[in-house]
Amino acid sequence: MTRVFNFSAGPAALPESVLRQAADEMLDWHGSGMSVMEMSHRGREFISIHAEAESLLRELLAVPAGYKVLFLQGGALGENAFIPMNLLRGKTSIDFVNTGEWSKKSIKEARKYARANVVASAAETGFDRVPARDTWQLDPDAAYVHICSNETIGGVEYHWTPDTAGVPLVADMSSNLLSRPVDVSKYALIYGGAQKNIGPAGLTIVIVREDLLGQALPITPSVFDFKEQADNDSMLNTPPTYAIYMAGLVFNWIKAQGGLVAMEAHNRQKAALLYDFLDASKFFSSPVARADRSLMNVPFKLRDESLDAEFLKGAQARGMLQLKGHRSVGGMRASIYNAMPIEGVQALVAYLKEFEARHG
Ligand SMILES: *Cc1c(COP(=O)(O)O)cnc(C)c1O
Repeated sequence: MTRVFNFSAGPAALPESVLRQAADEMLDWHGSGMSVMEMSHRGREFISIHAEAESLLRELLAVPAGYKVLFLQGGALGENAFIPMNLLRGKTSIDFVNTGEWSKKSIKEARKYARANVVASAAETGFDRVPARDTWQLDPDAAYVHICSNETIGGVEYHWTPDTAGVPLVADMSSNLLSRPVDVSKYALIYGGAQKNIGPAGLTIVIVREDLLGQALPITPSVFDFKEQADNDSMLNTPPTYAIYMAGLVFNWIKAQGGLVAMEAHNRQKAALLYDFLDASKFFSSPVARADRSLMNVPFKLRDESLDAEFLKGAQARGMLQLKGHRSVGGMRASIYNAMPIEGVQALVAYLKEFEARHG
């Protein structure tokens, strides 16, 4: 068996020990004689798996009282519609900060349900940064302010939490949730698909302040009505059972590594290795402003784009996969989520050095 270093942006690498545990438990989970995939979601076994996953997630993030943790489906793209449906609360507009491709998708979807005001945008500089807070023109009557805390494609990340002067703050954390500690109390709602940094595709996490619930638009599908799901422990219908089980194993793995403080230290160390190399290189470069560089997704460019294909081929030959940048921005991108071991980043930097020596 050969395992590669998988730099995919998502679905992405999972910790090997988690995959091994899942393999061990595949045919017979804890003496139940069943695979988790075969269990009734109403049965004692799965209810315990679900409850443990939720309680671990609450513990890792230190979720304060007064927040609901929901395990849903529909992905982050689905949430871009369901969040307006649930959180407009009689208001007519939403404020958005536009930091790139995923912000734009959120804005586009919200426009079906409300007025979406772009209160700050990094378009002018090619989405290479987070617009400074003092440039945001916030509307005190907006239903909420929406940010994308980590632009998975552009590699731009918030390293601070915006103060929105009492207007609820909503964050798409699809690609950096659980990469570091978060002060949940500063957010009205945090959401994300699991397939970047948490587990398999199919599970969508929503953490929401309880007092905002109960005013969903009448057209809201019941399974995406946060209040209905909260009242039913996210089991209004059949939840993505196996994905929840896998996420629970990952939560346990993170806890065993030392929790989110340890995750952040590890992630900073990995990212620094790569960015320090890129900054010193005359052949490779990072397009993102230093203060706003993502610890999770590291886009980079070759000075000579005509060598892109050769670069990728050489990476593949060395067991490093999925380094091609998103088609909308080109270049390369290394996604180095929690599960990417430092050895993977070391191998990548060694290859970058070797390639530069040959072509630089
Ligand atoms: C991947 C991603 C999405 C889309 O998630 P789906 O689960 O495919 O709907 C949205 N926002 C961000 C920041 C992402 O990284």
